[in-house]
Amino acid sequence: MKVYNTLTRSKEEFVPREAGKVSFYMCGPTVYNHIHIGNARTFLSFDVIRRYLEYSGFDVTFVQNLTDVDDKIINRAKEEGSTPAEVAEYYSQAFIDVMDEIGVKEPTIRPRATQEISSMIEIIQTLIDSGHAYAIDGDVYFAVRSFPEYGRLSGRDIDQLLSGARVEVDSRKRDALDFALWKAAKPGEPAWEAPWGSGRPGWHIECSAMSERYLGTPFDIHGGGDDLVFPHHENEVAQSEACTGKPFVKYWLHGGMLTIDQEKMSKSEGNFLLLKDVLEHVRPQALRLLMLQTHYRSQFDYSVERLQEATASLERIESALRNLSWAIESYAPVAVAPNELGDKSVSWTGDLLKHIEATREQFVHHMDDDFNAAGAVSAIFELVTAGNSSVKDGIYGESHRLAVIEAHDTIVELLAVLGVDLLAKADNNEEEIPEGVVALAGKLVGFSGDIPAAAVDLLLEARNNARANKDWALADAIRDGLSELGLMIEDTPSGTRIVRK
Ligand SMILES: [Zn+2]
Repeated sequence: MKVYNTLTRSKEEFVPREAGKVSFYMCGPTVYNHIHIGNARTFLSFDVIRRYLEYSGFDVTFVQNLTDVDDKIINRAKEEGSTPAEVAEYYSQAFIDVMDEIGVKEPTIRPRATQEISSMIEIIQTLIDSGHAYAIDGDVYFAVRSFPEYGRLSGRDIDQLLSGARVEVDSRKRDALDFALWKAAKPGEPAWEAPWGSGRPGWHIECSAMSERYLGTPFDIHGGGDDLVFPHHENEVAQSEACTGKPFVKYWLHGGMLTIDQEKMSKSEGNFLLLKDVLEHVRPQALRLLMLQTHYRSQFDYSVERLQEATASLERIESALRNLSWAIESYAPVAVAPNELGDKSVSWTGDLLKHIEATREQFVHHMDDDFNAAGAVSAIFELVTAGNSSVKDGIYGESHRLAVIEAHDTIVELLAVLGVDLLAKADNNEEEIPEGVVALAGKLVGFSGDIPAAAVDLLLEARNNARANKDWALADAIRDGLSELGLMIEDTPSGTRIVRK
């Protein structure tokens, strides 16, 4: 398995520190608002990476923090006339709920910054004691000059950075790039006691403290959007390595940004979308399928048209799965000459088994190549097509039936590895039948029950009898009635069924 490591700017063989185990830290949201779809893209990308590592047999410990103390939260509370704790609690829950809605797995551990202050104070004290940090008027800053490796992760030169940062916003700092580890308390703001004065932690120190506490250092993978490389992750490296004297992270993985209709997403430009608003118009699986089609490190362009295409693709997969399920369920051995059955059965079965094997191989091949989910999805699509055409004339024999079952289950399984969960939907044909069939069956064939599936069965049986009796008026009335409900009768070698038009 190869992964692109931001630290070395190259694809490297993935070898976790401990065989079979992966320690994985992911920067979580600052909970002052609902997340936008750019954030959602990052969280979905890393969910896929985590799921694939698990599929590959790794025992993954996935830690994602919630930043529940921050200037943005304090400002939001002032705007809303509430408290920072109330704002943080509300948007933390909103975040957890919406992640669940789009099928992002729960982290193994989800620490909250406000519950981890003592580990942050410990690190800051160590940094002060070792001369990597200094306190002024209750603020504490990290001295970037004290860490010669500063700039290595983001590939920046510290002298260039310093000369580019001429404007001193805070003249008390030794260097313009020095960043806050601790902010002195201000009236009315949340504050904790510390040896250098009460206050609250800076943002960067959180991730150093929580990853150290729950994963230790070094750990295997640190993830986040590529907008976090500098300064957030650069600062995490400086704090943690200056504190522990050990390397911080083995593999740094960064996800690309999101544009909307080829434009940068920005509140001021008016093209800004919250995930929860997008989900009002689209199924989460379609959004995920769409995002999977762009490599996680590349820029992803969102548009309504692309989302509609993804919805159509999703429906194509679901319709194929229904075809396969139906063929499997309605298969009955038919009396045909053994050699005739034998030939067809052998060729269909052999073909399909080859497709299944090729799809599994391609899936792993693409995902092992820095999690190329787009390639993996196209491999699944090939099996969807092959599976569908393999049952177009029904099922020939038991070995063919078993191959079709395997094709169906492989499609469902591999999509689930990518977090696209279709099982519930694809196996529930009842949901597809509109209520109107009950009334139609009552009117045309005297149906007195209330279960749509039973109404359909009776209508199809009545139609077949009508055709056998050359009662074309009734047969047509049934066909037209179903058609008005958006349903179509399909005659197949295995029998008659209805499908959505
Ligand atoms: Zn972070």
